[in-house]
Amino acid sequence: CGIVGYIGNLDSKEILLKGLEKLEYRGYDSAGIATLNQDGIHIFKEKGRIAELREGVDFNVEASIGIGHTRWATHGVPSKTNAHPHQSTSSRFTLVHNGVIENYAILAREYLQGVELKSETDTEVIVQVIEKFVAKGLGIEEAFRQTLSVLKGSYAIALLDEQNPEMIYVAKNKSPLLIGLGNDGFNVVASDAMAMLQVTDQFVEIMDKEMVFVERNSVTIKDLQGNVIERAPYKAELDA
Ligand code: GLU
Repeated sequence: CGIVGYIGNLDSKEILLKGLEKLEYRGYDSAGIATLNQDGIHIFKEKGRIAELREGVDFNVEASIGIGHTRWATHGVPSKTNAHPHQSTSSRFTLVHNGVIENYAILAREYLQGVELKSETDTEVIVQVIEKFVAKGLGIEEAFRQTLSVLKGSYAIALLDEQNPEMIYVAKNKSPLLIGLGNDGFNVVASDAMAMLQVTDQFVEIMDKEMVFVERNSVTIKDLQGNVIERAPYKAELDA
């Protein structure tokens, strides 16, 4: 299972699909991508191989922001419905997740009364809780922060907000995730540097329980208290 993300000037689909292909070795049962452009979010997902996902992708839909996922099902059978990305009810928020949210049932009971869940995954609870916090009046950054602070378990997360198409929201806890730095107007996200050696060899580590705000020309890391953290990149010494 794995995650990729791209925000930049090029069309994201091929970069995401190539990245997911590089993560195939980790094992998976389904895969999906979400891209964001001026028309909104576009989701493509399939049970089975990346090759099958690729066949279903509409290559006419250009979008320079996107996230992708290979799933190794833990909660809910492998199926198109349970494949990631998952969306909140309003479809404003779109999220991919690797790992296991141990308290998803408690969170659903506490925060999601009246919300009709579309999948059987622990993951959908995360994106629905974010939407609930926003509905209570929080800004997206604060809603993301508060959601992370109530999650128990392991996660690597990448989130898109349809109303802020200039950012990918990223976080991890006990599941791998890295930021890749582009030097001319793009940045990427990946579970494994190998997935993004196609576009960069400069990576920045993310520590557990940090939030990362990835924009075209900047990457901002914060701890859950909101303090900005500076971290130097390193060069990945691998063959693409
Ligand atoms: N627990 C999530 C699910 O079952 C994510 C699994 C994964 O790491 O791919 O959908």
